[in-house]
Amino acid sequence: MAIRRGGDVSREQEIAAGLAEVEARIARACRAAGRERGEVTLVAVTKTYPSSDIRILARLGVRDIGENRDQEASVKARECADLPLTWHFVGQLQTNKVRSVAGYAHLVHSVDRSRLVQALSRAAERAGREVGCLVQVALDDDPARGGARPVDVPRLADEIAGSPGLRLAGVMAVAPLGEEPGKAFARLAELARAVQASHPGATIVSAGMSGDLDEAIAHGATHVRVGTALLGPRKLFVR
Ligand SMILES: *Cc1c(COP(=O)(O)O)cnc(C)c1O
Repeated sequence: MAIRRGGDVSREQEIAAGLAEVEARIARACRAAGRERGEVTLVAVTKTYPSSDIRILARLGVRDIGENRDQEASVKARECADLPLTWHFVGQLQTNKVRSVAGYAHLVHSVDRSRLVQALSRAAERAGREVGCLVQVALDDDPARGGARPVDVPRLADEIAGSPGLRLAGVMAVAPLGEEPGKAFARLAELARAVQASHPGATIVSAGMSGDLDEAIAHGATHVRVGTALLGPRKLFVR
C-alpha cells in the first residue's frame, strides 16, 4: 500500500514510475503517427489526489494539471499557487461555479452550452483574466453526460470566439462507451478541422485518457488527460 504523505519518497518513486510509463506510451504513439513528442501536452488529472502529489508531479517536470470539481480544484490551486502550473478544468461545469473557476483555470475543457459561455465570459471579465475555452463534444450525439451535439459545435465555437474574456482554444471529447475510441477520435479530428477553418487559433484537440491515449494521439490529439496511469486507481470518497 502506498503511503500518501507530502514529501514521501516511495510516493515520489511511484509517481515517477507512472510518469515514465505514460511518457513512453506517448513517445511510442507519436513515433507511430509520425508526430513530434512536442506536439502533445500531458495533462495530469489529479482529482481525488492531494496537493502533495501535484508538488511531486511539478518536481518531475509536469506543468499541466487537470481537475474536474471546483470545490476540490479551487483549494488545490490555492495550495499550489507558488508553482508554475497551467490549470485545466475538465469536468462538467455548473454556471454557479463559474466565478470560482474563472479565478484559477487557464483552460476550461468542458464548454458545452451557450449559458455557460455567457457566464464564463462575465466571470472572466470580472476577474480580469482571459480564460481559454474548448468546446466539449458529445461524440455519441447524446449530451446527457456533458458535451455539445456535433451539429452545435460550430455555433458554440463562434460564440466563444466573440465573447470578451474568453479565447477559443479548440475542442475536447471523451470517447463514448461501447465504441472503438479510434473511430470516435477520428470524428473529433474532423470537427476540429472544421472549427479551425474559421478559427485558426483553435489548435487544441483534447482527447485520450489512461485507457485510450494512444488512439487519441494517432488521431491528432494535442492534449491527453491522464489520471489513473500516472497516480494509480482512484478511491471513491477521498475528499
Ligand atoms: C478523470 C478524467 C480523466 C482521466 O481519466 P483516467 O482514466 O484516470 O486517466 C480525463 N478526462 C476527464 C474529463 C476526467 O474526468
